[in-house]
Amino acid sequence: MGYLGGIEGGGTKFVCGIGTPDGNIIDRVSFPTTQPEETLEQVFGYFADKQIDALGIGSFGPIDPNPSSPTYGYVTSTPKPGWSNCNVLGALKERFQVPIGFDLDVNVAALGEATLGAARELSGCLYMTVGTGVGAGLVANGRIVNGLTHPEMGHILVRRHPDDDFAGNCPFHGDCLEGLAAGPALERRWGVKGAELPADHKAWELEAEYLSQAFMTIILTMMPPKIILGGGVSKQTHLFPIIRRRVLELLNGYVVLPQILEDIDSYIVPPGLGDNAGLTGSILLAKQALAGR
Ligand code: ADP
Ligand code: ZN
Repeated sequence: MGYLGGIEGGGTKFVCGIGTPDGNIIDRVSFPTTQPEETLEQVFGYFADKQIDALGIGSFGPIDPNPSSPTYGYVTSTPKPGWSNCNVLGALKERFQVPIGFDLDVNVAALGEATLGAARELSGCLYMTVGTGVGAGLVANGRIVNGLTHPEMGHILVRRHPDDDFAGNCPFHGDCLEGLAAGPALERRWGVKGAELPADHKAWELEAEYLSQAFMTIILTMMPPKIILGGGVSKQTHLFPIIRRRVLELLNGYVVLPQILEDIDSYIVPPGLGDNAGLTGSILLAKQALAGR
């Protein structure tokens, strides 16, 4: 038996790897995301001499994750040069005659965390990344949850912090969650990269406020067994205690669940798989594709 192949297809970089059905990563490479032809050529090159039984890919979005749609497997309306309406799954299928699972990057990271990461004892989780953008994926009963297409939780509306006069960065909505809280919003609002802002900077009060509001909405709409916060901005670990406290404040005792009321420290957590959530998830997606063929 061969390995399972995984691809974490990000807007900035692609990570390819192989692993075992229990999610152990055996080998990995990473390269910058350039034009689709060039990037996919590197993917083909990596897997060419690997014995893979199935492949899973978590792609940056927006994508079409609906198997019955004519554009299933496409990256759809991205502004990223060259990638708009790009048939990523089609290109992979042409090259590799194995079952291939295709889904959104954050959905696949959520699958990794729900199966082998911070939520491995639970039936699912909500995984949010706050980095270049904001995105989130839901896993329930071990499966990724999509609707008409994948959810777009990064663009939900939040109430403004009274001290925030930044117009917001989202080209579609201005001050949606991503427009106010993603890495580029931090940088534009404060004039320096998030990583350079000290822990006691006002920026983090605002950041925590917006993420807490988003988590309140997510709890009220989805009741995930756990919320996992990853991405570059989440490396600011001092955000976690502020967010936990604020989520409890916002909920104000309305949701009476011991997991939240008594154990918020293990309810809102960083990824258990660290930076491997995406690649591990894509290997697990390959496993699902193999089982479901
Ligand atoms: P991507 O979202 O492109 O996959 P990341 O999750 O690393 O990649 O997010 C990159 C964004 O996160 C950038 O806007 C960057 O400024 C911000 N960022 C990265 N590291 C940190 C940090 N330690 N603290 C705050 N912001 C960070
Ligand atoms: Zn938006």
